Amino acid sequence: MEKYILALDQGTTSSRAILFNKSHKIIAQKQKEFPQIFKENGYVEHNPNDIWSSLLTVAREVLLCKGLDAENISSIGITNQRETTIIWDKETGEPVYNAIVWQCRRTYNCCKELIEKGYSDMIKEKTGLIIDPYFSATKIKWILDNVQGAKEKALSGRLLFGTVDSYIIWKLTEGRVHATDFSNASRTMLFNINTLDWDDDILKLLDIPKRMLPKVMESSDDYGYTTLIGKGEIKICGVAGDQQASLFGQTCFDQGDFKCTYGTGAFLLMNTGNKPVSSHNGLLTTIAWSVNGKVTYASEGSVFVAGAAIQWLRDGLKIIDSAAESEPMALSVSDTNGVYFVPAFVGLGAPYWNSDARGVLCGLSRGTTRNHIVRAALESIAYQINAVIKSMEADSGKKIKALKVDGGASANNFLMQFQSDITNCDVLRPVCVETTALGCAYLAGLKSGYWKSMTDIKDNQKIDYKFTPDIPETKRNSLLSGWQKAVERTTL
Ligand code: ADP
Repeated sequence: MEKYILALDQGTTSSRAILFNKSHKIIAQKQKEFPQIFKENGYVEHNPNDIWSSLLTVAREVLLCKGLDAENISSIGITNQRETTIIWDKETGEPVYNAIVWQCRRTYNCCKELIEKGYSDMIKEKTGLIIDPYFSATKIKWILDNVQGAKEKALSGRLLFGTVDSYIIWKLTEGRVHATDFSNASRTMLFNINTLDWDDDILKLLDIPKRMLPKVMESSDDYGYTTLIGKGEIKICGVAGDQQASLFGQTCFDQGDFKCTYGTGAFLLMNTGNKPVSSHNGLLTTIAWSVNGKVTYASEGSVFVAGAAIQWLRDGLKIIDSAAESEPMALSVSDTNGVYFVPAFVGLGAPYWNSDARGVLCGLSRGTTRNHIVRAALESIAYQINAVIKSMEADSGKKIKALKVDGGASANNFLMQFQSDITNCDVLRPVCVETTALGCAYLAGLKSGYWKSMTDIKDNQKIDYKFTPDIPETKRNSLLSGWQKAVERTTL
């Protein structure tokens, strides 16, 4: 009887279930969107019941559509939207408040106060993170401070906290297991990435009772079993936050391996090996995963506007009809004719860190056509990613060998070639670009014996295309210096 790995991918806008076979191929997948709750004061929430029911539905459907049952599944891997915070009552199973989503900025003032009181260095040293509403810590504090009776219940041991992975594990195991993995714990701003334990000083500072926190386990580990998806028990053996799962799915197993996900924004992670590397360029230090008793660290940077620049050409400027059209348009001209576009719509992130910056389109002449502008927009994605890569190289003292890519915009061959040219490294696009789901499937499959070893997995990963650098050094330098000048113009 053939067995499969069931990957459960609980994302920000939808829940997905994907079945993988031994040769890393997708056999079936199901997806279900769930409501986003945007409150008038800018708060962003999810109803935890929507998260859970959408995930359980797709998990059951994906088995049903192939006529499979629990006995056909070797194990389950879970990957999830990170940092999103849920607190629930362990007796009733009911959440005491909606899930506060990672995007929600409601704890801005709390974070500002922590920064003003001088806690930035201490938090960065212990957690690898920059104090920001993004992470779970101040979201937990908000719920305990604002939901009536929550603080008392938490102190008495009635309430449990979890990131989305933890909540799903608890639901799947019907309350038997309250746990999370190292990668998710490292996004809470409560976890000490050096001692590998919840940090008592930070818990005290934020007045969060330790007893509500989950047990932290390896990313490839025995998380118990569920009987809710099929007839019989299915083991849960892999857990990782989405970006770390994608790093694993890209088989970035060695120190210095890089991946970039080209979505609405872009996420870059670099494997930094068995030691955390502290950044001098505003990048985050995080735990990539823990497998076979070995913790691996990563450096993380993001670009706020990547594919979104192409969306803007389509929906804002209306000079293209589809994102895919940008590729032939860019290739129809030999260069941008001196045009640079810096899509700093919401400021600039790493390594520029300028929240006052705004977008710039410069170098226009009478000869400028929409093809030049489209090409400049695609190039802007590569320039921004290149800047993050250079920062990571500076922090780690290691030169990038190859960049592994995934996400919607990685389908654009022009963009991938330009990335290779400008960063002067190979760009590798795998056959299976569902790397997030694949990553948690790998973590699960390693534990349940479905795949033998990480080497075994790496040897079987198939590359769809390898882009290699194809411009002279002088050309690269002149393009980069033009970009730098354009970036300087983003502050009015
Ligand atoms: P997310 O997960 O953030 O929703 P996806 O990975 O689905 O993003 O990628 C969608 C983004 O990629 C959109 O911003 C879109 O503009 C961009 N995109 C999709 N296809 C292409 C393409 N062929 N060329 C350039 N950009 C693309």
